[in-house]
Amino acid sequence: ATASMHPSPPPEGHSDETVHGVTNTVVGVLGGGQLGKMLCQAASQMGVRMAILDPLEDCPASSVCHEHVVGSFNDGATVSEFAKRCGVLTVEIEHVDAVTLEKLEKQGIDCEPKASTIMIIQDKYRQKTHFSKFGIPLPDFVEVDTLSSIEKAGEMFGYPLMVKSKRLAYDGRGNAVAHDKKELSSVVASLGGFEHGLYVERWTSFVKELSVIVARSRDGSTVCYPVVETIHKDNICHVVEAPAEVPDKIKKLATNVAEKAIKSLEGAGVFAVELFLTQDNQVLLNEVAPRPHNSGHHTIESCYTSQYEQHLRAILGLPLGDPSMKAPASIMYNILGEDEGEAGFTQAHQLIERALDISGASVHWYAKPEIRKQRKMGHITIVGPSKYSVKARLDKLLQRDAYDPK
Ligand code: ATP
Ligand code: MG
Ligand code: MG
Repeated sequence: ATASMHPSPPPEGHSDETVHGVTNTVVGVLGGGQLGKMLCQAASQMGVRMAILDPLEDCPASSVCHEHVVGSFNDGATVSEFAKRCGVLTVEIEHVDAVTLEKLEKQGIDCEPKASTIMIIQDKYRQKTHFSKFGIPLPDFVEVDTLSSIEKAGEMFGYPLMVKSKRLAYDGRGNAVAHDKKELSSVVASLGGFEHGLYVERWTSFVKELSVIVARSRDGSTVCYPVVETIHKDNICHVVEAPAEVPDKIKKLATNVAEKAIKSLEGAGVFAVELFLTQDNQVLLNEVAPRPHNSGHHTIESCYTSQYEQHLRAILGLPLGDPSMKAPASIMYNILGEDEGEAGFTQAHQLIERALDISGASVHWYAKPEIRKQRKMGHITIVGPSKYSVKARLDKLLQRDAYDPK
């Protein structure tokens, strides 16, 4: 097993003995999407009080939190006001007003993870620069701000060339691929031009995408969840297989890269490290999320301590739980919006009904107010006695002959 059940010792200078306790602190969360909702569900079980800041009146977390403040997590005054009611402030999305978080920290507000971490991560170029300074293996990357600089990068890295927005990226929105030099200007235009900040990455023809969730307590000690494989469709995470089917030495390498990356960032909580496994058995870091992550949904049913409970334990200064799997295998399937409106709901509901008939399947419906194409609407996790059986059950659920998530 690569899940480390025994926390690694805290690095020097990271010690923070604050313990908030379970019932006497309000946890404030910036964002009330599905990740916020599942955090609240874990909190409810433990008796932790949750306040959510989200602009949407009927956001997914609104039905399960103690308090929902309707407002923007990007507005400084709103975030500062919200912070007053919270003992500790955390995030379920990195695209928040990190400058305000930094000010609040200086005023003594407890933010976990730290504002510095959110600031590094919310700008993917800054994130890559940061990790390269710490010797973390990455695809080659370079900032581009003019047509001539991106052409130069194309000559350097070759094609296809991955062009990325520095900020506000999620579900592949913010990424575009140029197949040759002629496509560069239209690709740049599709990302809104150079004004908002772009950079490029060398194309990685990976054999698999892997993910490792690392939890860090306030004192700096860490535990790692088992390595999983993430399978994307049109840049969106579609299926997660736990554990990943890779040799033990790859699991060790992936876990080491992930842990090293997280140790370079400040603050407590869970962090997801997205990785590429290359043909020549290198593990490269794609990006980090400073919060619970899609690749860790399966932990609710398949691990002793879910990533959501773990995040709460970490930020509250409670002991970290056991991240290892209590079932031999699990598979998570994201329910993505197919059609808009009623037709989309009908399709999703049919899938959910079929899932209810499958052994080991658990349904999570986020109850988003609207259904949109390619939007994450819910997920289904199937836990079972072997990789073969959970895949076969997913095939049955999807009414297809053989396992082919693409
Ligand atoms: P997320 O929803 O995970 O936040 P994102 O919008 O931040 O996604 P990335 O993680 O940068 O986007 O990329 C999305 C997907 O695109 C990756 O999971 C991978 O499949 C593919 N991808 C990203 N970078 C590269 C690269 N350099 N070479 C090849 N494929 C890549
Ligand atoms: Mg991202
Ligand atoms: Mg990603």
